[in-house]
Amino acid sequence: MVLPVKRRKGLTVDDYERGIMQGDRAILAQAITLIESNLPAHKETAQNLLTRLLPKTGRSIRIGITGVPGAGKSTLIESLGNMLCQLGYRVAVLAIDPSSTRTKGSILGDKTRMDSLSKNPNAFIRPSASGGNLGGIARKTREAMLLCEAACYDVILVETVGVGQSEVTVRSMVDFFLLVLITGAGDELQGMKKGVVELADAIVVNKADGDNKMKAANVKTEFNRILHFLEPATPGWISQANTCSALNGEGLEDIWSMIRSFRQNTISSGYFHERRKKQKLDWIYSMVEEHLRASFYKNAEVLLCTPEIEKSVEKGSLTATNAAVKLLEIFENSTSPTKSSREEVERTNEHSL
Ligand code: GDP
Repeated sequence: MVLPVKRRKGLTVDDYERGIMQGDRAILAQAITLIESNLPAHKETAQNLLTRLLPKTGRSIRIGITGVPGAGKSTLIESLGNMLCQLGYRVAVLAIDPSSTRTKGSILGDKTRMDSLSKNPNAFIRPSASGGNLGGIARKTREAMLLCEAACYDVILVETVGVGQSEVTVRSMVDFFLLVLITGAGDELQGMKKGVVELADAIVVNKADGDNKMKAANVKTEFNRILHFLEPATPGWISQANTCSALNGEGLEDIWSMIRSFRQNTISSGYFHERRKKQKLDWIYSMVEEHLRASFYKNAEVLLCTPEIEKSVEKGSLTATNAAVKLLEIFENSTSPTKSSREEVERTNEHSL
């Protein structure tokens, strides 16, 4: 049941929880908007909601998909998504596109391209969060993924393009990582120089149709040779290259059956859950690091002293190590009043008990 728009404005955590559990896509979309919000009150509600839903998360297979613009990612997601819906799965599509923040235009587009999938009642498509840096977008996507899992989506597809570290970020939140390639796009362009191939559990050479079929098969053979020499992205799993045509659907069943055997394989080896556990812990520290980095670079006293310190390093009168020590000392000393004000608050609370 979709609640009237007016009522949805004042949804409580209970309303969100109920709506999500009932598979209401409009409420799920609103809950994602809530976790994307930077307003402190929204942040608190969002964390309360996530805490409630956590026991209902984790049951999907999380698949990352990357490739250069034009490789056919959206066409592939649409075809694969429709095929999976037909097989009875519920499919959620999320995206990580840091370009949307920087340029206000997004490389992945607004996903209106996945027209037929978006109309499928068993699919849910959400464009990339914008605003903030890659870390912020990644946090929002991870939390959106949890909401989708609580809403009983069995397959979560996270799409990205190679902007900055976005592939590494997506790899750090998914079980299976798929690299979509095309023939004739050049090694550098397709991320080979950046080591994206090493992150992939599978490569698929798309557009293997018409005149391009033979060329795609050759590229596949070449990549299978390269993969043979690389350290596997997932221990115990040999990454493979395949061909497909997202346009006519050829090869999609093979991709899905490969993902299923990957899942079975890694679950029985124990690596599936080990990776998920590690991903959760890594996520904590990436947020801590991000917070520390941001507070350092925004710190007024650090900003004030930086030009002088940089000048001394440039002139050669201060070593880089001592410059770093100095800046960190300035930062630590300037943040201590925050600590004491926190202690002050805690003391006040104690006294008022
Ligand atoms: P994305 O930027 O990676 O999401 O790429 P799109 O899915 O938007 O596809 C880019 C272009 O390639 C579109 O014109 C698609 O119709 C076309 N395309 C995608 N997959 C195939 C395919 O399997 N075969 C052929 N011939 N064209 C394809």
